[in-house]
Amino acid sequence: MQTNPSASRALLKRAARVFPPCVYGTIYGRIANPTMPPGGPQFFNRANGARLWDVDGREYIDFLCAYGPNLLGYGHPRVEAAAERQRALCDTTTGPAPVMVELAEKLTETISHADWVMFAKNGSDATGIALLIARAHTGKRRVLVASGAYHGTAPWCTPFTIGVLPEERAHRAEYTYNDVASLESAVADAGDDLAALFVNAFKHDRCSNQEMPSPEFARRCRELCDRTGALLIVDDIRAGFRLARDCTWSLVGVQPDLSCWSKAIANGYPLSAVLGSNSARTGASRAFIAATYWAQAVPMAAAIAVLDVIKETNYLEHTVALGHLLRKGLDQRALAYGFELHQTGPVQMPTILFKDDPDMRFDMAFTAAMMRRGIFFHAFQNIFICAAMTKDDIAQTLHAADGAFAELAEQRATIQPHPLVAYRSARVLQRTT
Ligand code: PMP
Repeated sequence: MQTNPSASRALLKRAARVFPPCVYGTIYGRIANPTMPPGGPQFFNRANGARLWDVDGREYIDFLCAYGPNLLGYGHPRVEAAAERQRALCDTTTGPAPVMVELAEKLTETISHADWVMFAKNGSDATGIALLIARAHTGKRRVLVASGAYHGTAPWCTPFTIGVLPEERAHRAEYTYNDVASLESAVADAGDDLAALFVNAFKHDRCSNQEMPSPEFARRCRELCDRTGALLIVDDIRAGFRLARDCTWSLVGVQPDLSCWSKAIANGYPLSAVLGSNSARTGASRAFIAATYWAQAVPMAAAIAVLDVIKETNYLEHTVALGHLLRKGLDQRALAYGFELHQTGPVQMPTILFKDDPDMRFDMAFTAAMMRRGIFFHAFQNIFICAAMTKDDIAQTLHAADGAFAELAEQRATIQPHPLVAYRSARVLQRTT
């Protein structure tokens, strides 16, 4: 591995001149992912399967998976061939290509609650469209979200409220995920003004242990929406197709009115979708929803190939099997060096936190130590296992973990809180409800 990250540093210097230094997606990787060691990977110019190469030629096994889109492997041959075929025909034109109808048909066949589809680009588009439809459908205003849940960057849902008016969040209220009493109280408080109840596929908030939805909570969400006429919206943007070949809430036997998808559905091509049941068709027919690029054909062709791979292969079982290997191996190695981990959530989408690590110094130090060993982890949010990973990749990851835990054990007494934790805490404190 090359150790002088001169190309990364030079690009970062140029970027600082032409981008504002805000949290801007993954461009400022160091800020979006504060565990990035100084001079660490910032810009990438090659990706293949489960691997990523930065501009300095350093190779990583990538457990971030582009923050979710990489489900089947970067550059998956079948997905790329489908995209290439469509690109040779047309992409963004004056009207949609046939692939748009074909993909909508396939999605409604694949997702059991879905009778219709609307396409967009990013997850934030999809959650915004879903809220608009819910308000158009019900004629009501209030939207309920779980505290700490992420649904995108629009004013009504962004966790960072600088530049956002209180009026833009006036009809938003929070409940606690999996807490039926808090949900009931938020619904009661909405009176007869409840338009939408948003739930994440499971609780995958940053800096906290993950939780699957309890069947009791999920059922109560459905009952309360049925009683009030509000729409139940499952945000499956991050988890979609990682846990099930259907909406994730099919696992708890609850069907939403709307579900939001993006990230993995086109394996990296920009596409999101709102899938709706007939119960929500009226609102969807009334609302004005449009954007120039939302009918782009190439991502749709890619998504059709993704759906075929999902149906025909054991991609899901494979990621679960590798996830178990990783979880067991990390626990064993941590214990061997006197550390204990909280590994929570589905094994194929784990959040890995150290026990008794309130300021996250060990989480940060471990992730940085893994990064130096060519393993791309995240210190405080879930990572992903993609279908292109192999048992050998997991073995290489566990070997790196062995070295990283050994390093931490040696330096245990001197490890300081990561300087960027202070920055992150300041940002988190700006959250309002
Ligand atoms: N909802 C969830 C659950 C997400 O994880 C994300 C993105 N991390 C979004 C919505 C927003 O998606 P995007 O970043 O594509 O706008």
